[in-house]
Formats: sequence, structure tokens, C-alpha cells
Amino acid sequence: MVNIVLIGKQGSGKGTQAKLLAKQFDLEHINTGALFRKHIEEQTHLGIIADEYIKKGELVPDKFVFQLIEESIEPDIKGLVFDGFPRTLEQAAYLVERYRIDKVIYLSLPIEVAKKRITSRVECKNCGKTYNLLTSPPLMEGVCDVCGSVVGSRADDKPEAIEKRISEFLEKTKILIDFFSKRDIAITVDASASVEEVFSELCEIVKELF
Ligand code: ADP
Ligand code: ZN
Repeated sequence: MVNIVLIGKQGSGKGTQAKLLAKQFDLEHINTGALFRKHIEEQTHLGIIADEYIKKGELVPDKFVFQLIEESIEPDIKGLVFDGFPRTLEQAAYLVERYRIDKVIYLSLPIEVAKKRITSRVECKNCGKTYNLLTSPPLMEGVCDVCGSVVGSRADDKPEAIEKRISEFLEKTKILIDFFSKRDIAITVDASASVEEVFSELCEIVKELF
């Protein structure tokens, strides 16, 4: 079983690439942001708590993230691709205590490029498919190509929340590259290339792990 982690700032394409990798290598995609959004939509206890942080662009406190992870991962079914977890040193320690991680891939992208990508990003409220209004818009404006539901921007893709999320990344998440480099499992990939180019680079890395 192969377990990988994707780390990258908002707009680095980590969600898109995680989804593609999960499909290509038959891995389970663990996207903590999407899992929280589902809780928010369903107004669960965890969702109501998480919403207060997420809409401001702040990280959800670790104990709620651990609760989410525990209830979301089906034990020993498939390998995993973590997308959006870990984001703090405490989360990284929690992860390596419980799972053997084969590779941590850092999708590196300049901040200005990242901001441009996020401001043109929209996503399907139902199936979560993401679109970029500049480079890959839905065929029909505001309608998901896949499921026909409403496509719009995320509540936390507003300027103040974007700034806050990027600074959270720089303050708390970027140091995880050092944490995993010390374990000799980190690798950096340039995320400014096209989705296809980045994906083919990731496939080269991941296929070596099997
Ligand atoms: P992005 O990477 O663009 O910020 P995500 O969908 O990955 O988008 O996450 C959205 C929000 O969900 C984050 O800003 C944060 O509030 C919360 N979140 C997701 N994963 C975590 C995590 N591992 N730890 C704390 N908060 C998280
Ligand atoms: Zn959809």
C-alpha cells in the first residue's frame, strides 16, 4: 500500500492533482477541506464549529481535524493521498505516528501566481469539481459539466480570507517540508506548469513507490 501527502499553498493545484493521482493509482483521496465543507453543508456539530474558522481563512484547531481524519479514513482498504493534511507540525507528528508515509510532494508556486489562480477559481457545490474561469470554465456558465449542479466561488475565496490562508500556510505549513525532508521522503515539484505537465511529473514520482 502506498501513502502519499501533497503539500502546497492555496492555488498550487494540490486538490486537482490529488484527485488525478487517486484515480490513476487507485488511492483513497483524503481532502480535509472538502470533508469539512461537507460537514458545514450538512450542519453537523463538527461542521458548525469548523465553519467559524474556515470562513475567516483560519486553520481549524487540531483536535477537530483529528476527529475528522478518524471518522473519514476507512482502515486498510486502499493506499491514501492526503490533500490538505497535515498543515501543522502537530498534525504531521500525528500522521507519521499512525501511517507509513512513502512520499511527501511539495507543489511549489510563487504567491502572485497562486493568488491569481484562486481568484478565478470556482467549484461545484455538489460534486466538488473545480473550474478556472480563465483557463477551464464550465461549458455552460454557472453549471457543473459533470453533475449539472450550481458552480460558484467558495465562501473562503474572498480577498481577506485568501490573504489569511496564505499567511497560515507560510507560518504553519511550509515548515513541514523540513520535517519531512529530515525523514528523507520530501520532494519538490514546480507547480507553475500546466495541470497535465505537473501530473505527468507526479506520476513518475508515484509509480516508483509501488
Ligand atoms: P485551501 O488549501 O485552498 O485553503 P482547503 O479546501 O484545503 O483549501 O481548506 C479550506 C479550509 O479548511 C482551510 O482554510 C482550513 O480552515 C480548513 N482546513 C482544511 N484542512 C485543514 C487542516 N488539516 N487543519 C486545519 N484546518 C484545515
Ligand atoms: Zn458537479
